[in-house]
Amino acid sequence: MKALVKAKAEKGLWMQDVPVPEIAPNEVLIKIERTAICGTDMHIYKWDDWAQKNVPVPMVVGHEYGGTVAAIGSTVNRVKVGQRVTGEGHVVGRKSRNARAGKFHLDPDTKGIGVNLPGAFAQYLALPEFNVIPLGDDFPLDIAAIMDPLGNAVHTALSFDLVGEDVLITGAGPIGIMAAAVAERAGARRIVLTDINDWRLDFAKKVTTRTRMVNTMNEDLRAVMAELGMQEGFDVGMEMSGAEPAFNQMLDVMLMGGNIAMLGIPAKPFPVDFGKLVGKALTLRGIYGRQMYETWYKMLALLDSGLDVSPMITHRFPARDFQKAFDLMETGQTGKVILDWNA
Ligand code: NAD
Ligand code: ZN
Repeated sequence: MKALVKAKAEKGLWMQDVPVPEIAPNEVLIKIERTAICGTDMHIYKWDDWAQKNVPVPMVVGHEYGGTVAAIGSTVNRVKVGQRVTGEGHVVGRKSRNARAGKFHLDPDTKGIGVNLPGAFAQYLALPEFNVIPLGDDFPLDIAAIMDPLGNAVHTALSFDLVGEDVLITGAGPIGIMAAAVAERAGARRIVLTDINDWRLDFAKKVTTRTRMVNTMNEDLRAVMAELGMQEGFDVGMEMSGAEPAFNQMLDVMLMGGNIAMLGIPAKPFPVDFGKLVGKALTLRGIYGRQMYETWYKMLALLDSGLDVSPMITHRFPARDFQKAFDLMETGQTGKVILDWNA
């Protein structure tokens, strides 16, 4: 089969012929129809420090996909051949304290599809039945391919009560934008989304309806808060950029006793004024992946009840034109970019 492989320890990805994966009795073979490119794939493509430390070479990459079941192992009984599916990309162990307690998203033995297990940028993927998410026959494959980052957004956004709360989201990448859309539906009062890239903030307007966009390079956040009639500060913060200035600015404008959910991964360690965190009695929660499987339940329910994330998809390419897609991703002027494995 064809697969996009991190074949060399240098910038790039290579389309290669590799064997179709064999499935264990508890695994499902998925025929991949569509995939989406994630920021993580860009780290691997560019071969930055994080990728060099975490990704063995050679490795089939990719973890955002929609497909159909091609074959099932002998003990699989939750899905049928031909069924439309996507999957949770974190493959967990069963030995740790958290896994034994059913807190699978907190298992320290977690491995990532397309990071340290063979990935989904391929014609076929083998996945444990436990990780397979069954979808309806009419569920759009493009949306199936962006469920993984939508799950990051939903997990972060639903970490704290949003009803009637004023929310600050820093970073208008695909996950920050989808988190704003979720916050709107979850009943937040004021929602402010910041970035330093005007293209991203403009694009975010296509996916949200009442979120106030702020480019913090040329607009003063406190002036925006005053304009919105905010007396004190934000009740809930969602950090979705991994950028030092964004996090420190968030600390500045939080209400006393406020809650921060942090999904953004800093490229390197950075200084934080912990005096502010303590003085404001803030709660800071790190967010990793998606909750298994409560986040998936919630996101399917949100989509069912009218959340529309289809405008997130800005570009589609046949998989063989992957290089054009990765070049485009590097410009920063994209929403989600889809590769079609049937085209
Ligand atoms: P992305 O890189 O597409 O978006 C990040 C955005 O932050 C960009 O638009 C960038 O312009 C913006 N930004 C940079 N500096 C800023 C600043 N000072 N203020 C405000 N915005 C600023 O990323 P994404 O795919 O949307 O993911 C968001 C973050 O979450 C990334 O850091 C990613 O690595 C991380 N992530 C974490 C998990 C997890 O499980 N914790 C999972 C997926 C992604
Ligand atoms: Zn992803």
